[in-house]
Amino acid sequence: MTGLMTGKRGLIMGVANDHSIAWGIAKTLHDHGAQLAFTYQGEALGRRVGPLAAKLGSDIVLPCDVEDLASVDATFAGLDARFGGELDFVVHAIGFSDKAQLKGRYVDVTTRENFSRTLTISCFSFTEIAQRAAKRMRSGGSLLTLTYGGSTRVMPNYNVMGVAKAALEASVRYLAADLGPDGIRVNALSAGPMRTLAGAGIADARLMFNHQKAHAPLRRTVSMQDVGGSALYLLSDLSGGVTGEIHFVDSGFNIISMPRPDVLQA
Ligand code: NAD
Repeated sequence: MTGLMTGKRGLIMGVANDHSIAWGIAKTLHDHGAQLAFTYQGEALGRRVGPLAAKLGSDIVLPCDVEDLASVDATFAGLDARFGGELDFVVHAIGFSDKAQLKGRYVDVTTRENFSRTLTISCFSFTEIAQRAAKRMRSGGSLLTLTYGGSTRVMPNYNVMGVAKAALEASVRYLAADLGPDGIRVNALSAGPMRTLAGAGIADARLMFNHQKAHAPLRRTVSMQDVGGSALYLLSDLSGGVTGEIHFVDSGFNIISMPRPDVLQA
């Protein structure tokens, strides 16, 4: 416990269970003194998120479905009742696409309806959250979202999620430019593959996981602690001069151009 986040109040969006990336980040932020509020999507997840929040000393647990703007506004109204209309940071760890379209060729499986839905939930929701959060960050703040390397390089089966993550990363840069004059920083963590509910929705997720382990410079996948530590950096004053960044937490996988020859030849 360093107290790096002492006095900071933040909203954590995207905890589904104790494997969620948002949960790993929340634990690290709590360890460093942050006061946290949580959102959940739907009553079933709410029954899981409530007890998890309690473990981190929080009873601020609000429903939020980002597909429904009235729900987003109600979440911020609920938050204001507890945080007095102020906010220091937000973690947006939300993604969704029809699982049936995260399998096979992008060109064959993608529909207009799911394209729009995926982009609305996985990308534009970050902008809608930023619009509302920024009004509450009167003395500056930090917004963080989660992305994946399938945004700039083709990963089998990642399909429309890759397109959504590319748009999300572009949003990070536009939001950073717009909100920078108000002292609000906007960044993304690009995490390597992790075993979560969302991760399991992508066909052959296990193959991607093992490929990363075999070929990343650090020869391992990333842990919750790895992602939590990088999030702590981007949400705390340690990264005070950093905005608009896509920060890789992927054991270095993004720098590799081809699989290891010794593995290919084996
Ligand atoms: P997860 O399933 O634990 O979390 C996804 C969250 O999105 C869930 O809490 C779910 O309730 C929420 N969500 C989906 N639709 C929503 C909606 N309409 N309204 C509100 N919330 C909604 O999985 P995760 O892997 O922790 O995913 C968190 C983020 O990390 C996602 O953006 C994901 O794309 C990203 N990410 C994941 C990996 C990975 O390998 N797991 C790697 C890089 C980035």
